[in-house]
Amino acid sequence: MNGRHRNILIGISLVAAMGVTMHTGAQTPGDIQQAVDAAYAKFRTLQEGKNADYIPALAKVDPNLFGIAVVTADGKVYTAGDVKTEVSIQSISKVFTMAQVIEEQGLDSVEKQIGVDATGARFNSIIAVEAVRTVVGSGAPEMNPLVNPGAISATSMVRGATSDAVWQKIIGFHNDAAGRQLTVLQDVYKSESDTNQRNQAIGALMLAYGYIKNNWQQAVDLYTRQCSIGVNARDLATMGATLAAGGRNPVSGKQVMNSSKVPGVLAVMATAGLYDDSGKWLYHTGLPAKSGVGGGIVAVSPGKFGIAVVSPPLDDAGNSIRAQRAIADISNAIGGNPYAPRAK
Ligand code: GLN
Repeated sequence: MNGRHRNILIGISLVAAMGVTMHTGAQTPGDIQQAVDAAYAKFRTLQEGKNADYIPALAKVDPNLFGIAVVTADGKVYTAGDVKTEVSIQSISKVFTMAQVIEEQGLDSVEKQIGVDATGARFNSIIAVEAVRTVVGSGAPEMNPLVNPGAISATSMVRGATSDAVWQKIIGFHNDAAGRQLTVLQDVYKSESDTNQRNQAIGALMLAYGYIKNNWQQAVDLYTRQCSIGVNARDLATMGATLAAGGRNPVSGKQVMNSSKVPGVLAVMATAGLYDDSGKWLYHTGLPAKSGVGGGIVAVSPGKFGIAVVSPPLDDAGNSIRAQRAIADISNAIGGNPYAPRAK
């Protein structure tokens, strides 16, 4: 290729690249707010699903609570509905504890000790733990830090001399991602501590099978506490935006984790963030996401935005119904699907 041709080619590539940027950048603040408002109006009266009730405190949360927030990678915030009322973060905390372990101990640590594959089972499946036993040693553990067994193991990996030292790191990471001091909803923590025998059984099994190296009771307790952290839709969207912006909280400006490690976090979210419905979710949105039985879902459009919805009624897989519908509508309306960079 001679120089002139090369220059023409470079020119063409630049125009193509700019085309993508210009298109996705063409979302005006008005477009985003309009998409958020439209989804709020469309789903506000939807009456499907049911609050989680296996943790008694969750059954008491107002099922009409509905809040939407989008936080862009450059720190702009768009909201509709109730973005102030807190719900327990539940399984969404699994993302940030996993992120902390990856940040502290590297991408390999989680992959080797827990795994990053989908289980194809419910989030608290014990059969899934037993199934892994059949392939342990094959180098392919079908487990990940976003289902309970893997999450309790991830919590056990956070380093610290005392339970309190570990907790300070866990809550500190969540605080940095949200950009404010979060607190534990004590009623939820107590309610889940009183009724989490199944997770205790999982913790004990994970010790027996070598995923947890020590003190499974502490790991289950800290896991239960991290699931009880109170967050609103705006907090969750900011946490998502921190991942969208390469580990830098775009509102506070704080670099929360090394940007080179963020893609690994997003990959596990894409694989297992909505449990055994993750494939369906990805098919419709292309977005790494994470749900919690408190009713929150956070999704990440890498480089563009974090989006979150809080609405407690869940479907059979344990994912908020309104949150799934609203996030899919909004993201698809504003070009959030990373597999369709030109789609509006
Ligand atoms: N704390 C909940 C549990 O362990 C979290 C589950 C979830 O949000 N899916 O059962």
